[in-house]
Amino acid sequence: MPRTIFVTGATGFIAKHVVLKLLQRGDRVVCSVRVMARGHEVRQAIFANLGTRMFAEDRLRFVALDLTQDDGWADAMSGCDALIHTASPFPLSSPDNEDDLIRPAVDGSRRALTAAVAAGVPRVVLTSSVAAVSNCPLPEGRPFDERDWTDLASPLAGAYVKSKTLAERAAWEFVGNAGASLGLTVINPSLVLGLPLDDYFGSSVGLVKRILEGNDPMVPNLGFSAVDVDDVAEAHVRALDAPESIGQRIIVASDSLWFHEMAAALKAEFPTRRIPTRIAPTIILRLLGLFDDSIRGIIPALGRNDKFCTDKAHDMLGISFKPSRDALLSSAHYLVDRKLV
Ligand code: NDP
Repeated sequence: MPRTIFVTGATGFIAKHVVLKLLQRGDRVVCSVRVMARGHEVRQAIFANLGTRMFAEDRLRFVALDLTQDDGWADAMSGCDALIHTASPFPLSSPDNEDDLIRPAVDGSRRALTAAVAAGVPRVVLTSSVAAVSNCPLPEGRPFDERDWTDLASPLAGAYVKSKTLAERAAWEFVGNAGASLGLTVINPSLVLGLPLDDYFGSSVGLVKRILEGNDPMVPNLGFSAVDVDDVAEAHVRALDAPESIGQRIIVASDSLWFHEMAAALKAEFPTRRIPTRIAPTIILRLLGLFDDSIRGIIPALGRNDKFCTDKAHDMLGISFKPSRDALLSSAHYLVDRKLV
């Protein structure tokens, strides 16, 4: 019996992969988009990648919802069996007012979960981030894991980090108050790369674009754990079928790469492109940070390359992650092949 799954933020890089997987396994999907007209664009991106278009056409529909507005939420999830809540603002640079990120993220989580309870939806998978995990003192002698929570007073906690941490906390608090009626799993991805389904690929692939464009003369001394978008989508979908994941946060992350290693991998793959690989001295970044917000934001993270324990993802969801380098290169090939850089 096909189930009906509600997915928020369907125009997003990750959500399109989630919707594709749900349709591939036979589910019906109701998608929320902020602007109804963009449903067409999502439909096109998904059907271009779906083998059995004929059979999926009537299993996909759209509703318009905004995380910041009440309109439409009350009825949106009626008849749905589960909610996958991915929508949240994810810009590359911080807004002047951090509430512009925090409010939609936190209020959006509450709106989505309230609507789920009202519609009798029993199961929720919510997309948080390692941003809600790792911005706290490094645990002694171990990688970060799901016990760790970002400290909002940390200098690492910029607007986006706060938005993800507070939105996840709001979700756990909501479910605690709703009692047993809602089974919540939270997925905490690291930097999500891999193959976009269309040219609306969000900020994380935008970072690869920025490196490939080679406009920055040097790279900062910091690292990321990346993860392939296909693995991230798979984690969301598998969580729906894993009752043992209810009540759990699950980190989805692969190996960690320094920025200069990412740049070197891209340079080796595209040798004719001008891609700087030299590490910027910290003192220069500090000076530039006086004038440039996006540089100022990374200064507290310089020298860090966080590692994450992914035992839960392996044990509960049976996922082994593709290497970060492969995810990076598949984003890069998409951008180069489509002449977007
Ligand atoms: P995208 O920017 O591609 O997608 C974000 C989605 O959220 C879009 O559909 C966007 O709609 C929607 N959204 C934003 N603000 C609102 C609003 N006010 N009302 C309704 N919808 C809104 O990001 P990703 O796909 O990369 O990220 C999806 C989720 O995964 C987010 O929760 C993000 O925090 C999380 N995440 C992402 C990581 C990454 O590296 N990509 C890493 C870890 C977590 P619209 O298109 O209309 O703007």
